[in-house]
Amino acid sequence: MTAPFGAPKAHYDYLIVGAGFAGSVLAERLASQTGARILLIDRRPHIGGNAYDELNADGILYHKYGPHIFHTNSDQVVDYLSQFTEWRPYEHRVLAVVRGQQVPIPINRTTLNALFGLDLKTDEEAADYLASRAEPVDDIQTSEDVVVNAVGRELYELFFQGYTRKQWGLDPSELDKSVTARIPTRTNTDDRYFTDTFQAMPKDGYTAMFKRMLDNPLIEIRTGVDYRDIREQVDADHLIYTGPIDEYFDFRFGKLPYRSLKFEHRTLEEARHQPVGTVNYPAPDVPYTRISEYKYLTGQEAPVTTITYEYPSAEGDPYYPIPRAENQALFKRYEALADSTPGVTFVGRLATYRYYNMDQIVGQALATFRRMQEAVGATVAA
Ligand code: FAD
Ligand code: UDP
Repeated sequence: MTAPFGAPKAHYDYLIVGAGFAGSVLAERLASQTGARILLIDRRPHIGGNAYDELNADGILYHKYGPHIFHTNSDQVVDYLSQFTEWRPYEHRVLAVVRGQQVPIPINRTTLNALFGLDLKTDEEAADYLASRAEPVDDIQTSEDVVVNAVGRELYELFFQGYTRKQWGLDPSELDKSVTARIPTRTNTDDRYFTDTFQAMPKDGYTAMFKRMLDNPLIEIRTGVDYRDIREQVDADHLIYTGPIDEYFDFRFGKLPYRSLKFEHRTLEEARHQPVGTVNYPAPDVPYTRISEYKYLTGQEAPVTTITYEYPSAEGDPYYPIPRAENQALFKRYEALADSTPGVTFVGRLATYRYYNMDQIVGQALATFRRMQEAVGATVAA
């Protein structure tokens, strides 16, 4: 499987750069549905991209790149992935440490009662209370506007401003509204982080699911290989690229900002460390944003437990596109270049500069596959 690249050239129909969800879904579809011969590479030493999980030295299944919780409203995405995994039902819950208390986030009726010593009993009472605090914003543009408009400045500062400044290195007023709009405000007592119709974890983990997806003799996998080092040596008809789009074009228009994180994984000599899967720390004086404990996500039983701290960082692997107008404008210039580059398809969170969850990337990759098929059909018919 790992013949040197200097060996006599094999011919591939597709070279796919990146073995995360975007690259792996396309490899699977193209091989299984069209019989194409694929070379799938990743510069990391493993498949799975950011969703990669593995057993650590203590025997705990953990996520190397931070906690990944699967949730979706798309039957199509569930049906597709279910070919490669069974599922373990799991609904994620998150508490935020605010004024010395651990309270539910998204903000709900329980949060308000706990924080302000209230006894709001109904949705209506909670809605009235929030309306009395909200500061309506006529034209909601930024991540500050969304929250201040819904819950007012005090709750905004307590839950969102510090967290967002840490996570993005920017004030919420400098970020597109879509970022904090990911977090709703509730008047009921639903304390689940997500309300999607399907919420479950791959039963044997993400890496096991990826292995099954890619288990096809037509797919050759090479990890620990950077596209930049092998691009001249691979003979492939078409390139599918899921890495950062600015890097592909050698940063021609300047660097497109991506936010990074440093992960600190720790195993503790206790069965449980915290009351829920994730605890958020919005306070500005705490250097990390959140701590997650995998045994909640995976259901694993063990006398020890593994947790991960997330420290936001400007340096390091690109994890998050940063949604704001000037970055979108720069991305559009790269996108125009991509559109006029024949033989290359750009797909995935880094290549299309979209703050997408896993299910959205699977959906995007399936749609890309369909479009590629239509294009082939059109060429054959012409
Ligand atoms: P990636 O997974 O980033 O894969 C791209 C791959 O391309 C990488 O493995 C990279 O090494 C490789 N690559 C790049 N350039 C090159 C090159 N030049 N040569 C070779 N290989 C290259 N989503 C959810 O739905 N739920 C969650 O709970 C969730 N939590 C998250 C938590 C964190 C901390 C982060 C960062 C993301 C989270 N996500 C979550 C988002 C999820 O990780 C992404 O939606 C998904 O992994 C994107 O898949 P992708 O294939 O587009 O990109
Ligand atoms: N956010 C916040 N406080 C929180 C949770 C989220 O300010 O307690 C904001 C923050 O800007 C964050 C965004 O909402 O980046 C989206 O949160 P999510 O949990 O969806 O982030 P992800 O899991 O993608 O890192």
